[in-house]
Amino acid sequence: IQWEKQIRNSAKTNRPGGMSVLVTGAAGFIGSHVSLALKKRGDGVVGLDNFNNYYDPSLKKARQSLLHSQAILVVEGDLNDVKLMAKLFDLVAFTQVMHLAAQAGVRYAMENPSSYVHSNIAGLVTLLETCKSANPQPAIVWASSSSVYGLNDKVPFSELDRTDQPASLYAATKKAGEEITHTYNHIYGLAITGLRFFTVYGPWGRPDMAYFSFTRNILQGKTITIYRGKNKADLARDFTYIDDIVKGCLGSLDTSGRSTGSGGKKRGPAPYRNFNLGNTTPVKVPTLVNILEKHLRVKAKRKIMEMPGNGDVPYTHANISLARREFGYKPTTDLQTGLKKFVRWYLSYYGYNRKDVW
Ligand code: NAD
Repeated sequence: IQWEKQIRNSAKTNRPGGMSVLVTGAAGFIGSHVSLALKKRGDGVVGLDNFNNYYDPSLKKARQSLLHSQAILVVEGDLNDVKLMAKLFDLVAFTQVMHLAAQAGVRYAMENPSSYVHSNIAGLVTLLETCKSANPQPAIVWASSSSVYGLNDKVPFSELDRTDQPASLYAATKKAGEEITHTYNHIYGLAITGLRFFTVYGPWGRPDMAYFSFTRNILQGKTITIYRGKNKADLARDFTYIDDIVKGCLGSLDTSGRSTGSGGKKRGPAPYRNFNLGNTTPVKVPTLVNILEKHLRVKAKRKIMEMPGNGDVPYTHANISLARREFGYKPTTDLQTGLKKFVRWYLSYYGYNRKDVW
């Protein structure tokens, strides 16, 4: 009973016309930032996360404590727990679902392929089944990925470009997610927005990502491995700062429309949309390392290697005109500034006493 009361309280909105949002993956990097931003502007938020050990669960617990301090409850549970999912929707009439829980990472798919099927396919379907049966049916905004563009080398990527050449199992599950959500939109009238994030970075980030592990290794004096393409070209990414991504998430939630029930016959069709959320300025990986060296005031020991065939693509670059037009998405943080904020957070979180950097 106490638990039920906490969930209802956490879901309560404090502003007229505000939303009650279920945020899946709320103890994750992007989910924790989005949850805090929603709460700050007066929306109700209930988080869900299974706290898996893909990377350091203590970082997820620390994010959960931060959310807790802002009166956001993060329920510990799995997307595939049908009973728990139904219970959450029994307790709260969620107006939106921000679905960010997933098995992320491209390379880990070679070690543990079934975790991608479990979270990104089966978990997604369980969530959609729950939303389909909920009354009212929430609008869904979910994390797809720039990886759906795969081996397509026509850049910048636009939403209508081909996505039929995934380069990794991760990318394939995100592409499958787009097909699955489209089907639920078409048959059951669920309002769906897919967000194709481009390499998101920032404070409270993911330890498995290059900028994070480079920082750790540079500080520990360890050699970092920088991959190059087969033609010796540097890899480049359209690195996008977390605060810009959060604004894109809120903008897409605000315009997510409404679900209309089966086929949307009475009230017209529910929307199905996909948007790129990137920064539009690809940066080469060696340049990223130069910036980290500058902020950390430590020289990196670099090893340059040819990229193994592990699912990474050579280059990403977003065309964001669609998101700009639909909800005014406009990234404002360049990589220099964003990495400075990340480095400050990193040094403070891991207890480095480095006054020279502040
Ligand atoms: P993250 O790993 O930090 O967050 C995902 C969270 O989901 C984790 O806390 C994890 O414990 C939870 N989770 C995983 N499977 C679950 C399940 N079955 N049930 C309940 N919880 C589960 O990753 P992130 O970087 O915050 O990414 C959020 C979303 O954005 C993911 O869908 C990811 O694929 C996508 N994405 C991220 C990036 C990026 O650069 N960070 C780029 C493109 C897409």
